Amino acid sequence: MFRIITLTSAIALGIALSGPTKAQDITESPSTVGATYVPESAATALEPGQKIENLYTKNVTQPYILQKLTDRVYFFQAGFYGTVFYVGDEGVLLFDALEGQGEAVLAAVAQVTDLPITAILYSHDHADHIADAPRLIAAFPELRILATARTAALMEELGSALPRPTEVIPADRNAFDFEGLTVTVAPFTAETHAHDHAAYVLEGTGVVHVPDVINPDQPPFWSFAGADGYFGYRELVNQIDALDWDYLSGGHGNVGSRADVAFYRQFLDDLEAAVGEALGTVAFGSTVENPAAVNAHTAYLSTWIKAVGEYATDALRPTYGDYYGFDYATPKNAEMVGMYMFSYR
Ligand SMILES: [Zn+2]
Repeated sequence: MFRIITLTSAIALGIALSGPTKAQDITESPSTVGATYVPESAATALEPGQKIENLYTKNVTQPYILQKLTDRVYFFQAGFYGTVFYVGDEGVLLFDALEGQGEAVLAAVAQVTDLPITAILYSHDHADHIADAPRLIAAFPELRILATARTAALMEELGSALPRPTEVIPADRNAFDFEGLTVTVAPFTAETHAHDHAAYVLEGTGVVHVPDVINPDQPPFWSFAGADGYFGYRELVNQIDALDWDYLSGGHGNVGSRADVAFYRQFLDDLEAAVGEALGTVAFGSTVENPAAVNAHTAYLSTWIKAVGEYATDALRPTYGDYYGFDYATPKNAEMVGMYMFSYR
């Protein structure tokens, strides 16, 4: 538990600790979807499909990124963590309380409205997305905290040290209201990323908030963005695609569109094919040269699946190698697909 908290804190703080970076030293990766990039703006809304230019550079050189999405919805990102907030007539509804970004969120909200944050939604009980709730409560002691019954139960079961929801979204309605905005909860049937994972549709705005499945403008993140395994991952993508939205807030990456869903499907098709080829080519046992030297059968599976992952990554590199984080994410993801295909035959 505490080791996990320390680790996520280190991740959240990692960028701040690494010191100033010169924007001119950075070459952005090519878009995975042939995006139209536009300058960041808190005043001019994005058209569906448009993306914020130079997003990596901005993450390492700016305190935060703030982009207007629609009339009342804004996209926020800092330290590679993103979310959205909705400006009502009397207050602001914030989705998640990103770890280490409370001050930046307060500054971003104040940039577009004098209204207080009156409600936070916890999208799921992963501390890296909600751990700055205490900072926001300190600023606005009256704010409501909303979460699904699954999230509330998980926080209870695991003895979460974070502020508990003040209101539980009833499972039989799977929706809540905020100043006339209806937010619909679409619970995931697969527990690939979290036991309490869901997508949140801001009805009538065209925006869906669903962290940690699709990182728009990037191939899937390392370990499929913190998934337990590959089992059910495609189902998450399919469930997101079945919802009604024009702008996807993925928790990481750029503002997403349907093109990002199509890119993920194509990438997963190609990844599964490459892993299938690897499984048929890299013979089990071939990665242990001398059985007498290893002294444990543990060596067989771990070295073999690593070789499968490397083979599949090499096969994909000509097509995908220039995309964001490819070489850091793909070997691990190919290993996860390999274990899935090895287990379920
Ligand atoms: Zn998560």
